Amino acid sequence: MPSSVTRDLPGLTLDELAVSLQSRQRALEVLKWLSTQRAFDGSLPDEVPGVSHRVWQPFRATHRFARVLVRERSTSVDGTTKYALDVDGAVVETVRIPATGRSTICVSSQAGCTRRCVFCATKELGFVRHLKAEEMVAQYLLARAEAPADHPARNVVFMGMGEPMDNLDEVLRAVEVLTQSPFPQLRQQSVTVSTSGVLPGMARFLKESKASLALSLNATTDEVRTRVMPQNKAWPIDALLAVLRDAAKVDPERLTFIEYVLFKDVNDTDADADRLVELLRAVPSRVNLIPYNPFPGTGLETPSEARVVAFHARVMAQGQRCMVRWPRGREIAAACGQLVLAREGEGFGARAASR
Ligand code: SAH
Repeated sequence: MPSSVTRDLPGLTLDELAVSLQSRQRALEVLKWLSTQRAFDGSLPDEVPGVSHRVWQPFRATHRFARVLVRERSTSVDGTTKYALDVDGAVVETVRIPATGRSTICVSSQAGCTRRCVFCATKELGFVRHLKAEEMVAQYLLARAEAPADHPARNVVFMGMGEPMDNLDEVLRAVEVLTQSPFPQLRQQSVTVSTSGVLPGMARFLKESKASLALSLNATTDEVRTRVMPQNKAWPIDALLAVLRDAAKVDPERLTFIEYVLFKDVNDTDADADRLVELLRAVPSRVNLIPYNPFPGTGLETPSEARVVAFHARVMAQGQRCMVRWPRGREIAAACGQLVLAREGEGFGARAASR
């Protein structure tokens, strides 16, 4: 393979394709072809309809197709489908979550992760490698191709494995490709990038992207946050929220999601609920409460359903938008603590309507 190969399909933008194929029309034909693909086996076909052999052959000689193979596919009774994928040798997970009239695809940005969040199953894998933009886009296209016709895949959340801000160039490119017209044409607000709070990356993302941001806050005091997310020592709560407050000054329309995993007796008290509301006063935000999905060895437990409901009610009563994201696909996601699964009709895409 020539050493000039740096970027594979589907990680090229329409404009880049138009340059490589010396015509916008040919680039559009390639996107059309891409929209019909259900498998990503690492090699581009001999021909693409509407693109002349003369132009396609040199392109094909210098570009690959992403290699993303389904190793395992499991579907729960509620229709949530989890894919274990082999991404050019690395194992990652993608999930498709059905909601009312649409599906959300949860993609991974890294194989493994360098962050050390105590409650997250991904850290057990260590860090394998960054995923490339084409490998993120391919996860979406693959899961999209299998979505039921009455539940088209309109939303993407970067909430699978990995810390997106640690691989931000590739994540930004993936977002750009996912939201380009005429395909895949996702709305910017329908793509959500979730971070554990890597401050420099977060600030850059807010400047450079119109896609939605989710911050995994998970605590209301630095003491507790540092205990469950050690990187909080470098980027404490107030510094993270200051970045969100600044972004709100620039764009008052921007709504940030605050992810808050509830741990029994650690961050689920009435005092936490009150502090959470206080912390978010000047941050246009919606809180997603996530009951902890337990796995052995963390010393953390899941609160009772009654406690989750009471915490939610207390936050809501003080005027903060908030919803509980009850686990979906519980029986198939058992080994997968890091996946956030939405409740029917309350997925990330629902926010556009509530704005
Ligand atoms: N690194 C990014 C994205 C991946 S984690 C981030 O931290 O946001 C996606 C979400 O899953 C985060 O909100 C995280 O707090 C949550 N999460 C991780 N492990 C979990 C678990 N065991 N139970 C419930 N939610 C979890």
